Amino acid sequence: MKKMILFVIDSLHPVVLGRILSEGNAPALRFLSDHGTYIDRVISSFPTMTPVATSSMITGSWPDRHGVPGFIWYNEEIRRIVDYGATPRSVLKIGPEKVLRNLLIKLNEEHLNSDVPTLYEKLEAGGYSAGNVNFFMHRAKHPYRAKIPLLLNLATGFRLTEAEVSGPSHMTLGQLIHPPFSGRAQAYPRGVCNRFGFNDLFSGKIAAQLVHEKKQPDFMVVYFSDNDKYSHQHGPLRTGPSIERADQQVASVLDEFGSWEKALDENVIIVTGDHAQSIVGLGREYLIDLDCALKSFKRLKATEEASGIDKEIAICPNERMAFIYFLQSENEILTDVVGILAKDSRNAQIAWKVSDNRYCVLQGGSEKQLFFSRIGPYQDVYGQGWSFEGDLSVVDAQVTGEQKVQFGKFPDAFTRLISALEARSGKRVVVSAASGYEYLAAGGPIHPGGGSHGSLEEEDSTVPMIVAGMSIGLDHLRIIDLFPMILKHFGL
Ligand SMILES: [Zn+2]
Repeated sequence: MKKMILFVIDSLHPVVLGRILSEGNAPALRFLSDHGTYIDRVISSFPTMTPVATSSMITGSWPDRHGVPGFIWYNEEIRRIVDYGATPRSVLKIGPEKVLRNLLIKLNEEHLNSDVPTLYEKLEAGGYSAGNVNFFMHRAKHPYRAKIPLLLNLATGFRLTEAEVSGPSHMTLGQLIHPPFSGRAQAYPRGVCNRFGFNDLFSGKIAAQLVHEKKQPDFMVVYFSDNDKYSHQHGPLRTGPSIERADQQVASVLDEFGSWEKALDENVIIVTGDHAQSIVGLGREYLIDLDCALKSFKRLKATEEASGIDKEIAICPNERMAFIYFLQSENEILTDVVGILAKDSRNAQIAWKVSDNRYCVLQGGSEKQLFFSRIGPYQDVYGQGWSFEGDLSVVDAQVTGEQKVQFGKFPDAFTRLISALEARSGKRVVVSAASGYEYLAAGGPIHPGGGSHGSLEEEDSTVPMIVAGMSIGLDHLRIIDLFPMILKHFGL
């Protein structure tokens, strides 16, 4: 049986990948697509944020099952806001130790639903070896001790010098957990300037080393993070150079097999992204200021616990999406909050749960509203059944042919809205921004004139995928479909 390598390039944009492939500027990816299948439309999670999307890939489920709702979210169990380190300022405010604990330990060991198995767990239980190179989602049965680098130790005041985490039989997490370096360790860029080994070159070097030393596990995920930063800074349509650099790392791994043809003889190789990005306008009007819009409500701070204090809402910005959780008397507050948000046409969707299996979504700046429920006579392209009443244009959907409902600009909108509204417990409203806008609220990053993501919209939500060495057998792909495809390849 062929081994498998899954390369994940953060914020991989289908239009840019298509362009550099046709220009011949990404030879390794071009080789793989020439010898495999190139799909330019695979639908990501909602919100289109890395912890949510990568949890979806590794469990084959949306956040209502896997339990990781966003990059910033409110955890009703501890009545606190959870943040994986959205901005340097919020890291300082909340405390570097807490943020590091969230990202390094709790994301995998607590937040990710323990009842939902990961690909690593499934494969290893089936007798295969699995490996993770720098991918944030790594839960499996092998215990590891992560050594926190000195500079991070200083930042945390030595309150977190080591961390117990779990992973598959091979595990690399930057310079915190890694195999012994072969050759010059300096060639593996580390330290604070290289995000402690969480960079493309480090990921590529480790993956190539594993192949070189014949230690490649049966299934391996290799994650390239650099493109996300580049895309935020320069805008998604200018990410050619950073995708080309990721291509060089893929090439360096393929080279270790002797030839690229030999690499494909021995492996199934998949290249994809977690989500894409879209352009944010330059200027104040492109920032939807939630703190200001909702200033009449008592808002929970990132450092506070909601118990015993008189707070009404928690605002959790996720770039082009936001959660507004209700901490008390939710029915009155919900009506007021929705009333305010509905006046602003920059809110493309405002959604909440009305009652059991009944959801409402409004379009800001209009009178349009839509109610929808799971199960009903209308089928979408994924074979899911729906019933609804109201204006389908709120999610750019229409009824076609024999009771088919088809989504346009907001792919798989019903399922993805529900998955954000039902992820863990807690009453909430979710908002998704119109094209060109992003949310401004304490704790969240902003990217004026650059790239952003998070929304329900097509451009944030669509990633390309190259699959070489394996047939796909599905017409309409979502990132959760990788899970069964990969298990099937291994006969599980
Ligand atoms: Zn990002």
